[in-house]
Amino acid sequence: MTAIPAQGLRTQTHAVDFCVIGGGLAGMSAAIAAARHGVRVALMHDRPVLGGNASSEIRMWICGAHGKNNLETGIIEEIRLANRYRNSTGNWSVWDSILYEKVRFEPNITLLLNCSCNAVEMAGTRIGAVKGWQLTTQTWQVVKARLFADCSGDSILAPLTGAEIRWGREARDEFKEDIAPPVADRKTMGMSCLIQARETDRPQPFVPPAWAYHYARDDALPHRGHNFRNSNFWWIEVGGEQDAIHDTEQLRDELLKIAFGVWDHIKNQGDHGAQNWALEWVGFLPGKRESRRYVGDHILTQNEIRAEGRFDDLVAYGGWPMDDHHPAGFYHPGEPTTFHPAPSPFGIPYRALYSRNISNLWCAGRNISTTHAAMSSTRVMATCATLGQAVGTAAAIAARDGLTPREVYKQRICELQRRLMDDDCYLPGLLREIPGLTRNAKLIASTGDPEPLRNGWDRPADDKETSWIAAPGDWATYTFDQPVKLRRIRLVFDSDLNRQEPVMPCAYPLLPVLHAVPPTLVKGFHIDIARQDGAWETVFTETCNIQRLRQISLDVMAHACRCVVDTTWGNAKVRLFAFDAGG
Ligand SMILES: Cc1cc2nc3c(=O)[nH]c(=O)nc-3n(C[C@H](O)[C@H](O)[C@H](O)COP(=O)(O)OP(=O)(O)OC[C@H]3O[C@@H](n4cnc5c(N)ncnc54)[C@H](O)[C@@H]3O)c2cc1C
Repeated sequence: MTAIPAQGLRTQTHAVDFCVIGGGLAGMSAAIAAARHGVRVALMHDRPVLGGNASSEIRMWICGAHGKNNLETGIIEEIRLANRYRNSTGNWSVWDSILYEKVRFEPNITLLLNCSCNAVEMAGTRIGAVKGWQLTTQTWQVVKARLFADCSGDSILAPLTGAEIRWGREARDEFKEDIAPPVADRKTMGMSCLIQARETDRPQPFVPPAWAYHYARDDALPHRGHNFRNSNFWWIEVGGEQDAIHDTEQLRDELLKIAFGVWDHIKNQGDHGAQNWALEWVGFLPGKRESRRYVGDHILTQNEIRAEGRFDDLVAYGGWPMDDHHPAGFYHPGEPTTFHPAPSPFGIPYRALYSRNISNLWCAGRNISTTHAAMSSTRVMATCATLGQAVGTAAAIAARDGLTPREVYKQRICELQRRLMDDDCYLPGLLREIPGLTRNAKLIASTGDPEPLRNGWDRPADDKETSWIAAPGDWATYTFDQPVKLRRIRLVFDSDLNRQEPVMPCAYPLLPVLHAVPPTLVKGFHIDIARQDGAWETVFTETCNIQRLRQISLDVMAHACRCVVDTTWGNAKVRLFAFDAGG
């Protein structure tokens, strides 16, 4: 065989409308939302699995808004419900596969996995293209697009573009935030490597590595509850007093010394009831909490959160307390975090979701335009997912009309809010618009009062009935003045927004907790239409519905249409929040 010179590195170029960097829950939601609205999207993500801190590589629980009836809906709910159906034991590979398929098989998305964005081409204050190194193919991937979203957590596009950012904690006086320190600093919340354990039917020894730290007594871990059955060890946290980006490799070494040392403590230093438990998994990729935050046209603050965020341009909401970890993390001898109360829900404005000085760049996730104090609440992942859905939906409007992110705020904010609500995103204080056909039709039902089906409220509320209550066999019918073209049916079922979440485990007892599709959900239903003659004809049948939002495309003339409930996932009676018939 003759030796041949190696060729140069390959470059592949993609031309799309919208490019998203980072496939955590924010980036995934942005990409999916835009693609479903007809936009050609590329998602560049530097890991083999999607989900960011929620993926099997890091294994954080998805948290969101506290309180009754506040669970996030939209794409994040669709993902969680698919996981309940497919993943009763909470297997992390099954979870990864659900995140993967939601993006990989979405027709308008080009998914670039294992591809780390590290360069941009600029045209003035606009990004023209981004470039990433794909490890698995030894290929430079170049994505040309008109619109971009940075959902990378660490805001990689900021140093590459010169976008304005903030880093660290604001001084108390800057925004009159009483939980902020008196003097500004560059301290952040730290990063963590988590531990998971599995119960077995016999004693399990553990030999710690020689390089692990040694914690001989419980008082070496003050305020760090180490009940491995229900703690995910989030408090194994360092880096808040260092550089949360550039020191990551060194901080990972420190985290591993702590993690293996903590497990040695549980197994070998005093009785922690762990005799039959074995170490199952340790995260080797630190999960990041905080680094660069973009500066947008608005900076969300602690006081705005406390005032419930009643913005005209609210496009998402939070509701987690301001959970401000001490920057010293594991080395802070007191409580590792302080939970400062926040109302739930509070609105998050669109103006915090795009860069102030880079004209075609949105951000979504933990890197949005907030103060450190406000970010300590908005950073939780269900909130990040709704921010991503808002950005992806805004990108669809911008791509259609040739607008910048800021112009969407100035010209199309009401349309953005309408579209988000139509896609089952909850915007506190706003009512969903009901299509004229539905509004003007005559509505009757086999039982109860069906009017809540078209009142614009798609979730339970304490002060009013927002659903029609039905049992298998029940129907609700719209009759129109004259035959109409029906193109779309939209249904919102009850996925029990007060159910116990999250589903994914932090430990594996011999008898796992099983999860299932909520029994409140309609399983089987069908849609009938009546043409002029009045005879009913079934035009759509579903026997295994697992989702809350169902949008059904039709192309029929109808004088009336009805939704019939056939079966449920368990409950004798179920609630339907919406039934729209659209032309
Ligand atoms: C230990 C820990 C515990 C936490 N506890 C909780 C909790 O219990 N519940 C909760 O909801 N939240 C929790 N959080 C907060 C939450 O996980 C983060 O705020 C959230 O994941 C941020 O979402 P994101 O999509 O912005 O970023 P990420 O989830 O970090 O996703 C961003 C993705 O972008 C990728 N990326 C980065 N740079 C590039 C690049 N140059 N090119 C391509 N891709 C790139 C990253 O690999 C990453 O996967 C916790 C965080 C940590 C670290």
